[in-house]
Order: sequence, then C-alpha cells, then structure tokens
Amino acid sequence: KGTLYIVPTPLGNLGDISQRALNVLGEVALICAEDTRHTGQLLHHFSIRTPTQSLHDHNEKQKAAFILGKLEGGLNVALVSDAGTPLISDPGYTLVSLCREAGIKVVPLPGPCAAIAALSASGLPTDRFAFEGFLPAKQGARVTELEALSEEPRTLVFYEAPRRILDTLADMESVFGPERQVVLAKELTKTFETIHGASIAELQAWLKEDSDRQKGEMVLMVAPAPKTDALPKAAVTLFMALAQDLP
Ligand code: SAM
Repeated sequence: KGTLYIVPTPLGNLGDISQRALNVLGEVALICAEDTRHTGQLLHHFSIRTPTQSLHDHNEKQKAAFILGKLEGGLNVALVSDAGTPLISDPGYTLVSLCREAGIKVVPLPGPCAAIAALSASGLPTDRFAFEGFLPAKQGARVTELEALSEEPRTLVFYEAPRRILDTLADMESVFGPERQVVLAKELTKTFETIHGASIAELQAWLKEDSDRQKGEMVLMVAPAPKTDALPKAAVTLFMALAQDLP
C-alpha cells in the first residue's frame, strides 16, 4: 500500500517551504490540492512536475474514495491546501479518516500554520490554548458560540475574514466585555505583517481609524477569561431558579 503525506505549504513567504516538503512533493505519484491552479503555481515555482488532483470541501467524499483506491494500489500521495497545514480549517478530514480506517500509513510533515505562528508571537499564554477556527457567519450562532466560551481559561484562537472582523469584535465586546485583551495577527510572513495587541474596545477603534487595517488575512486571539471568585454563570442561574422555590 502507498503512503499519504500531509504537506504544509507557505502562508505567503515561499521561503517557508521545507526541504522535506519539496522532496515529498517531487517524489509522490499524485498531489491532492484544494485548488489545482493555486498549487500549480507553487509547483511551477519549484520546478515540480507531479500531477495534481482536486480535493476540496465540495467534492471531498467522492474524491477521497478515488484517492484511497490509488493508495490501496500502492501509489504514494501528498495532500496540500492553498496555504498552511491541510485539515486545519481546510479540506482533508474525510480522506485522512478513510485512510486511517483502511490501514493506510498517514505521515504528517510539520510546517506553516497561521494559528500556531500567530500564537507564538502573541504574548498571550501559550501553555494551554483552544483553536476555534472560523466563528459562524450568522450573528445569532456566533453570539451563542462566544457565550459558551466566555469563561474559557485557555487562550482562544480564531480565524477571521476581513469582512466580518468588526462584527465579530462587536459581539466579543458584548459577551467578553470591552476590557478583555486580544491580539490580531495579520498577513503573517508577508510584507505587511502586523501583530497588534489591545483591549477589545481599543482594537475596534484601531481598526476603524484606518480601513486598510481591516484588510488582509487575520488570526484573532483572545486572552483567557480572568480568574474570579464569582460563581460560574451556570451555577448562578441554577441558584436563582432554586431560590424561587425556597421559603
Ligand atoms: N490551513 C491553514 C493554516 O494552517 O493556517 C488555514 C486555512 S483557513 C481556510 C484560512 C485562514 O487562515 C485565513 O482566513 C486566516 O484567518 C488564516 N490565515 C491564513 N494565512 C494567514 C496569514 N498569512 N496571516 C494571518 N492569517 C492567515
């Protein structure tokens, strides 16, 4: 049987490709890519001629079975996404779980990942953190998710889109309070890389001051909830409910 290699690719700076990634991409029989045109440019840059196959969110189930067949047949395959580490808010979950169930060896190459790069430079606690990926686009669902995280004792790491950053921060202000510290890491590894730490209220003001600051790829990190002596919200709610029945 063949091996499936999980190959991270640069977030913006081509110098971040590893030697091992180049070797694997050059040696496998097939590269599964989120966007074959995008990956084609990367391969062209490094003069790699390995054929590519598309594997994205909309065809993953059907394509995963096809690729599993190739692996069963003895071919080695590499999985890449447009940027960073596959499966981290990117396609590949179906393929990897299928492969592991089928006893295909899955070999991960370490490499670029926006969440980890951002966290490492944030100055927020890194001993424990929770990666939350993208928040829901709809406000109701977003607020519900933020409420569930409001007392989270670990640093929170989110991916966010420029068109939603102000809405998300407004919701964070109402759920976490204006004072909670946040760090916005933008355009990591690129020319306009910026890592800006502030309170939630200050970050909103900073972004509104200059609309260019709202542009680019971004990771938003939130400091852990402050430790308080107060009872957790759920305990207070339960207590209030019980108190109504007390004499
Ligand atoms: N798999 C990728 C990884 O390992 O980071 C993430 C893919 S996800 C579809 C894309 C999101 O990652 C962007 O919306 C942004 O939140 C974040 N991201 C990707 N590249 C980035 C960069 N250069 N700087 C900051 N954030 C980035």
